[in-house]
This record gives sequence, structure tokens and C-alpha cells, in this order.
Amino acid sequence: MSDQDAVTISKIRMGIDAADACLRKMIDCSSISNAPPKIDNELCSAIFVSDDCIQKFKKCEQFVDESLRLESYVKKQSKTKAMLLLVKYGNKDEFERRVKSAIEQLSNRNGNLTDYSEKLTKTIQSASYICEKCDGTGTVEEQVIIRESGSPPSVILRTSCCNVCEGIGQTIMNPDLKRKLKVFSENLNRIVCIISNNIAFINNAVSTSFLEIERGSSSSL
Ligand SMILES: [Zn+2]
Repeated sequence: MSDQDAVTISKIRMGIDAADACLRKMIDCSSISNAPPKIDNELCSAIFVSDDCIQKFKKCEQFVDESLRLESYVKKQSKTKAMLLLVKYGNKDEFERRVKSAIEQLSNRNGNLTDYSEKLTKTIQSASYICEKCDGTGTVEEQVIIRESGSPPSVILRTSCCNVCEGIGQTIMNPDLKRKLKVFSENLNRIVCIISNNIAFINNAVSTSFLEIERGSSSSL
């Protein structure tokens, strides 16, 4: 593998390490945030999708590594090494298809992550969340038993103002939670950016590599 190839791989690995570090910070934030269940669910989903994205990112890194190695074998006419690399894929075209599919999967998953990020940003910006007790309606219904002398007790439904949000339907987020969510959200955004930048870089690296492989390979590959 050439020096240039080594630089390409190390650049992608740096991206993976940076994304991993962001994910660890997100996990730290969520474990100490004491967020209400709905926000906590949002955080857990974002962590799950981020982790999945990073796994797909690592898969792409392996594929770039293999593409560059195949390119160097083709250039050096090391036919046996090239065949050995391709044996688990069947042939060069199938290998190329798998590589492109892995990049596409990473791109789609990163799109999901962008949605989570935008949703969380909105939650933080509004600095409040839907009241868990009344589900945003501001009122709660409760059963009241009416007992009057001379008649059997009757049950009626009484609507009253929610005592948690005082009828507003939303609860103001405490500043400590808001601060933690901001750190969480910043790290989530960073992962999205790192992966977007790397998708462009990875795409470029493999396209160039496959052109060279195509140019140098014999029809038997
Ligand atoms: Zn309420």
C-alpha cells in the first residue's frame, strides 16, 4: 500500500475515533441526566442509532482498506494476492457492489441520525417538554365518589387542572438537565458531521480505487 493510501486509512480511523469519543460523552450525559421518560427514550434511541452508524462507518473503513489493497495488488500484478482478497466475495464486481452498498447504508443511517439530532435540538430550544401527567392537555380526569344520604353512592368523572404543569400542558426543563442535553446534542451533531465528511471522502477514495482496479485488472478478476 502506498503512503497516500496509508494517509487515507489513518484519516478515516481518526474520524472513527472522534465519533467513538462523542458517543462515549453522549452515554455519560444520558446516564446522569435524570431526564423524564420521554426525553430519556429520545436519548436512548439517539445513542442506539449513533452506535449503529459507527459500526457501519467501521465496516466502510475495512472496505476502503481492502479496495486500496486490491488496487495495489492489481498495479503490482500480484494476481494471487488479488484472488485471495476477492475469494470471499466471488469476484471484483460483487466486491464493488458490497462496498457501494455499505457506503449507502452508512449514508442512510446518518440521515436517520440527523433526524434525531434535529428533534433533540427542538426539544432543547423550547426548554420545556410535554407534561407526563396530563400528556400536554393541562387537565386530568379523576373518579369522584358522591355519597348522599338516602341514595346509593355514585361515581362521576371530574376534570381538574393538572397539578404538575398547573394547566399549561408543559413542564419547564430544569437548567441542569438543559445543560446536559446541550452537551449530548453537540456530540450527536459532531458525529453526524464527522460521518457526512467521511462519506464524501470514502466515496472519493473507493471510486478512484475502482477506476484503477478496472484499468489494471485482467478479465479473470
Ligand atoms: Zn400536566
